[in-house]
Amino acid sequence: ELEVALKVVIVGNGGVGKSSMIQRYCKGTFTKDYKKTIGVDFLERQIEVDGEEVRLMLWDTAGQEEFDAITKAYYRGAQACVLAFSTVDRDSFEAAHSWKLKVENECGEIPTVIVQNKIDLIDQSVVNPEEADLLARALGCRLIRTSVKEDLNVVAVFRHLASKCLQE
Ligand code: GDP
Ligand code: MG
Repeated sequence: ELEVALKVVIVGNGGVGKSSMIQRYCKGTFTKDYKKTIGVDFLERQIEVDGEEVRLMLWDTAGQEEFDAITKAYYRGAQACVLAFSTVDRDSFEAAHSWKLKVENECGEIPTVIVQNKIDLIDQSVVNPEEADLLARALGCRLIRTSVKEDLNVVAVFRHLASKCLQE
């Protein structure tokens, strides 16, 4: 039986929790200041979806997203995408559309999930629920609200993406 391997890119403004999400999902840990391990491009986790073994390779950026300097190598061959914004960062929400276009430019149409992270900070939210739903509808993607900190819904993000990819 052939094992399916999927390259997943995680995009969104700096500080929304991308590295934390990868670390949470692949290592089961959460820290206040996660620093990308030098020399490691991605972390991986194997799951079973619809009876198939899927190896997810989650690619992290080294923080260069703020400088619009993510290299083509980062996107090359990506088969799925997590587009993340933060509940407490309005700019990150406003930037979601342009991140979607950037991924489309580099990868074409690939299964994408919009992630609203830091839902544990909902009391300080700067994005109302209807806006987030509208964004997801406009971009034609599922919206999943997560808290990497509280380990809420992180597994669901990658399960959904893997399932989408297997259906294609
Ligand atoms: P990145 O720049 O998108 O990779 O973001 P990081 O993973 O470095 O996270 C930025 C900060 O947000 C760190 O201090 C994380 O601990 C914090 N963070 C990540 N996810 C959550 C979350 O779900 N809730 C809260 N409260 N903080 C989070
Ligand atoms: Mg990071």
